[in-house]
Amino acid sequence: MELCIDFGGSAIKLGVLDRGAPLRTAAIPVGEGDLEATRDAAAALVADCSPTAAGIAVPGVVDRAAGRLVKAHDKHPRLGGLDLIAWAETAFGLPAVVENDARAALVGEITTGSAAGARDAVLMTLGTGIGTAAAMDGTVLRGAHDHAGILGGHLTVDLDAATCNCGNVGCAESIAGAWALRRDLAARGDAVTDVEALFAAAAVGDEAALALRDRAIRAWGATAVSLCHAYDPEVVILSGGVMRAGRAVAEPVEAHVRKHLWTSSHRPAFVIPDRPDLSVLRGLAVLAAEHHR
Ligand SMILES: [Zn+2]
Repeated sequence: MELCIDFGGSAIKLGVLDRGAPLRTAAIPVGEGDLEATRDAAAALVADCSPTAAGIAVPGVVDRAAGRLVKAHDKHPRLGGLDLIAWAETAFGLPAVVENDARAALVGEITTGSAAGARDAVLMTLGTGIGTAAAMDGTVLRGAHDHAGILGGHLTVDLDAATCNCGNVGCAESIAGAWALRRDLAARGDAVTDVEALFAAAAVGDEAALALRDRAIRAWGATAVSLCHAYDPEVVILSGGVMRAGRAVAEPVEAHVRKHLWTSSHRPAFVIPDRPDLSVLRGLAVLAAEHHR
């Protein structure tokens, strides 16, 4: 049994999982005092059960050995430098593993989720940012410094676009992350302020919304093509809040990949998890159990 905590962009999700199945979950909004609120919520969740390990996900590059979020730019500034392994030990008396959230989501989906058993897979989380992760030959990629596979949202898709907050030019996330779309919607003075409303406006023929939606789809599609070129997956998993729009996002992204992928490349299957809210928690449970063994 594992206690899993996902420090997401807009909410902190918690769960106690037993052999991959969520027994109970909770969520608290991101904001002032949320680290203390997370500790209290987790303590309540484990009050009458006995997890043996904890898994913690953060939305950025992690130093797994030190249990720290290394770099997330604007997200969760108070987690920067905090030793989350020590935090979990003090708060819950549990050994903890810390992982990037997209990588944890990929682990969840290829073990107990929508792509269970896949050995070669990439995941794209379309949400506040664009998170990615990759597995090849059954191994989740981490690289020499824990950066491998997770910076797909910061692949250049437009050399003439602005510099991203990461320092690179024309990153997909700086064009089609929900934060970037909200920025562009606000700049237009539009009443539409979120991605779902943007898709709804585009569906009824609002030309400005159509242009913004189509640019976002091309950015997501180009990212998926680049991930396929880099990692040769059998399956591409699309997750994250934007995927509440479902096939309206997945179909044009898939069509972009079919059209632009290297000619001889295998056309991967596209999968949308039934329970995208559980991807990260499921992965954390697997990682925490492995780490504790
Ligand atoms: Zn970037």
